[in-house]
Amino acid sequence: TVVTRFAPSPTGFLHIGGARTALFNYLYAKANGGRFLLRIEDTDRARSTDAAIAAILDGMDWLGLTPDEPPVMQFERAARHAEVAHQLLERGHAYRCYATAEELTAMREAQRAAKQPMRYDGRWRDRTDTPDLPYVVRLRAPQEGSVTIDDRVQGSVTVANAELDDMVLLRSDGTPTYMLAVVVDDEDMGVTHVIRGDDHLNNAFRQLALIRAAGFREPVYAHVPLIHGPDGAKLSKRHGALGVDAYRDDMGMLPEAVENYLLKLGWGHGDEEFMDRARAVEVFDLAGIGRGPARFDFKKLESVNAHYMRAADDARLLALVTPRIEALLGTALPDTARLTALMPDLKARARDLNDLANASLFLFRARPLAMDERAAKLLDTAPDGILLAAHDVLADVTDWSAVALEAAVKALAEAREIGLGKVAQPLRAAVTGSNVSPGLFEVMAVLGRDETLGRITDACR
Ligand code: GLU
Repeated sequence: TVVTRFAPSPTGFLHIGGARTALFNYLYAKANGGRFLLRIEDTDRARSTDAAIAAILDGMDWLGLTPDEPPVMQFERAARHAEVAHQLLERGHAYRCYATAEELTAMREAQRAAKQPMRYDGRWRDRTDTPDLPYVVRLRAPQEGSVTIDDRVQGSVTVANAELDDMVLLRSDGTPTYMLAVVVDDEDMGVTHVIRGDDHLNNAFRQLALIRAAGFREPVYAHVPLIHGPDGAKLSKRHGALGVDAYRDDMGMLPEAVENYLLKLGWGHGDEEFMDRARAVEVFDLAGIGRGPARFDFKKLESVNAHYMRAADDARLLALVTPRIEALLGTALPDTARLTALMPDLKARARDLNDLANASLFLFRARPLAMDERAAKLLDTAPDGILLAAHDVLADVTDWSAVALEAAVKALAEAREIGLGKVAQPLRAAVTGSNVSPGLFEVMAVLGRDETLGRITDACR
């Protein structure tokens, strides 16, 4: 069966590129009835933090990328990594190198001066003496021939073995290197497909040499092009290379929107624009991953989010938006009946949860309502006495429903021989404090008689 893994280093938040890698691994596993695993690569003790681990787990949870097993913590497995290095030593696939740091620096200086590529020259490869000195363990890598990877995204890529030096597996303090840890963990976790950023393609050749020396199973590789900014430069914070928590908390986006956007960023399936999880699991494949760098387009993400806002369940949006409204108002909402009633209309206009919260505020503001600039202008330029007249016809409406309110306002416009907008726009300003809102008559119906007439009276003063 297919086993994939996402293997982040917990040195920062779960950024958008990492989230996409996790998603591709998740979908490939599920598309093939396999398992998706998580490995926290926390061997860089100085830079790995618990906060980063928590942020990664939290981000994956939000996106619904739940691993099928508890995460593997790489650092905990150091003894197992060392064990493999010692097995390789015993079998002659690795050797002890006693070269000192000064010696290696001198070697590199000489290579640099001679304009040769800098690499370990194998000076301990064939020595049999074992001085009583600190040593590192190096892989006895093949020196002849070449190694070819049939990468599922990059195609067939070949590197001459002469270009790969004998990499360190165990440091002189006995700790495993990253390269050793990755290979041993992938083997022990039963990983069949390694799907990751193409910044790791170079590592793959060395890892494959190690895999072969150890007699491990060779995984299928798929090195996915990194995400770039809209200007083609490497993705930076300026472009939106933020933690997924920023998309959730600061920008108020929905996880299914971020997921759908990330899925389509660098992977395509015909011209299906929106795809839910079930559909993605049905059709995801490695062949659909493009070879060129994907370009992050924030505007596109926003429009995808707006689509999912419209599609989202009203009750769910209510729960998501209520704390945001409360934060803006600085007080708890007494009840959410008004919001519930207008949600279908509000969500159709909102790009994100912040937008939705802001557009809902007028429902809860205390009188007298503050007018925004455009609303104030609408009131200033309204036909003389029209608000007062509207107030009076509305006050006579007995059945306070959107239909009856609309009929009353229309009758007033006709009687005055003015367009409906000449009455409705100043009314909208008076009732919502803005020139844009959900349908005016629905709003008045939801606000109720007293509140509506009160707001109109306030605006007449
Ligand atoms: N820990 C590596 C990273 O965060 C990934 C290694 C791998 O996927 O093999 O970039």
